[in-house]
Amino acid sequence: MKKSHQYPFIIAICFLFLLQQNLFAQPDPKWRIHDSHRPAPPFVTPAPQGQMTDPPSDAVVLFSGTDLSAWEKENGDPVTWKVENGYMEVTPRGGTIRTKQGFGDCQLHIEWLVVPKEGVSSQNYGNSGVFLMSKYEVQVLNSYDNKTYVDGQAGAVYGQYPPVVNASRAPGEWQCYDILFRRPHFDDYGNLEKPAQITVLHNGVLVQDHVEPVGSTEWQQRPPYEAHPDKLPLMLQDHSQPVRFRNIWIRELEPYESLAERAQPPVLEEIVMDEQSLERYVGEYGSGNRSQMRVEKEGDQLIFYRDATNHFPIFPQSETTFFSKMVDVTVEFSLDENGEVQGLTYILAGEPGRMMEKL
Ligand code: MG
Repeated sequence: MKKSHQYPFIIAICFLFLLQQNLFAQPDPKWRIHDSHRPAPPFVTPAPQGQMTDPPSDAVVLFSGTDLSAWEKENGDPVTWKVENGYMEVTPRGGTIRTKQGFGDCQLHIEWLVVPKEGVSSQNYGNSGVFLMSKYEVQVLNSYDNKTYVDGQAGAVYGQYPPVVNASRAPGEWQCYDILFRRPHFDDYGNLEKPAQITVLHNGVLVQDHVEPVGSTEWQQRPPYEAHPDKLPLMLQDHSQPVRFRNIWIRELEPYESLAERAQPPVLEEIVMDEQSLERYVGEYGSGNRSQMRVEKEGDQLIFYRDATNHFPIFPQSETTFFSKMVDVTVEFSLDENGEVQGLTYILAGEPGRMMEKL
């Protein structure tokens, strides 16, 4: 290859490399991690605290007020957080806790409250965190009247994405997160195929809209993804500050490729029918001499006219049953003992209509 011909080739390779690097959304590169100059999201006052949102029927209830049996310390020991009045509270040296069960794709509901305190500020006022898969933190903090770096305020995907608005309630008031999480995907060699994706409603207000973490969330760092299992425990952080949690439930979600998409429709087998046999179905069908449907033959193909605007080819499945390849329609002809066509029944989506006589 002549040298001058190599350049387009090299440029194409570089371009492909860059494309690969930019395949996934990134946190805004304009700002340094935890940048104090980053503008604060505007306030949105959430609706007054309503009823607690009860878990739907398919949710795994992780905490409903008294029972901590779904949880353990990081070393597997029983949880020592305080449990009273329907909530659990981070206690001194109580340690970070995690669910015994692992979760991947999920919808999570969790309510939390920052215990009011004097003389604390920034990251030291009500800091805890909801760690999806023990790795991806949605920050818990008092962000009502407490300034801190915005990628570390309540509703932030910590160190990466500030919330788009601040929907915080005051310390002493219950707040909630409804989180929609999609796990990251890795190939067999541990390379990232698809990053995680997080959507968060804070007190019913959208604060994270399908953001894609660039790896696990850390203080002062943005490490790249490291391959991990498809399911990992949900973790709640002990950041040495009293924060309460209640009404925690989770729904495991189907992968994007849903059950309905994976299911295969039945195979409809077409039989061969001679032209003469097809011919006998041609005609008008209806009731009381009023024609409502019609069958025509074009070449060796029957065409079914449902009405003036709706017609399609039908194919024989048996001597008397024809189907459409386009719509879930079956046309069932009835014959008398001499093999004469008496009428037809039009079956749409498995629901048979009235019998139409052959006119
Ligand atoms: Mg935290």
